[in-house]
Amino acid sequence: MSTNLHVPAIRTGSMRKSGSSSSLRHSVEQENELAPVTRSRRNSDSHVPAAPRALDRPPSQHVKDTTLLYAGRAHKALVFDTAQLKAKVPYFKKLLTETPDPSPEQTTFEDADEASLALFHSWVGGKALHGPTDWHSIGHYLGLYALAWKFGCEDLENRVVDLIRAHYAKEQMTAPPYRLEYIHTYAPHSLMESFLFTTAAFRCMTSREEPAISAVMKSTMARDSEMAAEFADALVRVHRAEGKDARHGPSCPAWHVHQVTKMCAPEMEEAWAPE
Ligand SMILES: [Zn+2]
Repeated sequence: MSTNLHVPAIRTGSMRKSGSSSSLRHSVEQENELAPVTRSRRNSDSHVPAAPRALDRPPSQHVKDTTLLYAGRAHKALVFDTAQLKAKVPYFKKLLTETPDPSPEQTTFEDADEASLALFHSWVGGKALHGPTDWHSIGHYLGLYALAWKFGCEDLENRVVDLIRAHYAKEQMTAPPYRLEYIHTYAPHSLMESFLFTTAAFRCMTSREEPAISAVMKSTMARDSEMAAEFADALVRVHRAEGKDARHGPSCPAWHVHQVTKMCAPEMEEAWAPE
């Protein structure tokens, strides 16, 4: 009986930011399959009309062993262990404590892409994350970061920053404008945003390419004054750091957030240093 409860028939209005996907697609060539989470940590249930819920709702409000979360426009479902979800994810600890039998709107994340939610599922289940291996999986890991950021998973944020930094260092990559736009939209003012902007600034400051700032980068910045300010800030920071490469060196504390988690042990820092 209870399996019928969670079929999400209602679109989550808050996730449908008009213009976001089209503006991303505009500058991204082929990355339109990335469907990230909403731009703030706000809950997704704030403006969904309650009317459709009244129909067939059984009275039972018992706590379930599993919780279904849905990703993407197709509402692809993944089954989570409720106890694990509450233990590891502050967002769901709060939601499922206050609402043990959540509505489909509360567990549907249309802007999350399926692969990112699958990575999140692995992490909640205690499996190891191995990091991106190519252009495509970088997108999925940044989507995972956006989920971690939205759901308040500090430890997962830090882990994904480590994995992205390691991959960028290994492949000698810097963030293209569409990655900056993505992270600014879905995890604004996060350390991942700061890191990606810093790599882009580093490229501009240290290469001899002309033009110094590409036309695509300029047009991306021209569309969003907040991003332009962030980029200017990154350029200044790279200059002051005298060309220090943000992709190398210890991750902690510079690229980690430890508001509720404990600082990393020194042994972990050693793994990143020296270049
Ligand atoms: Zn740390």
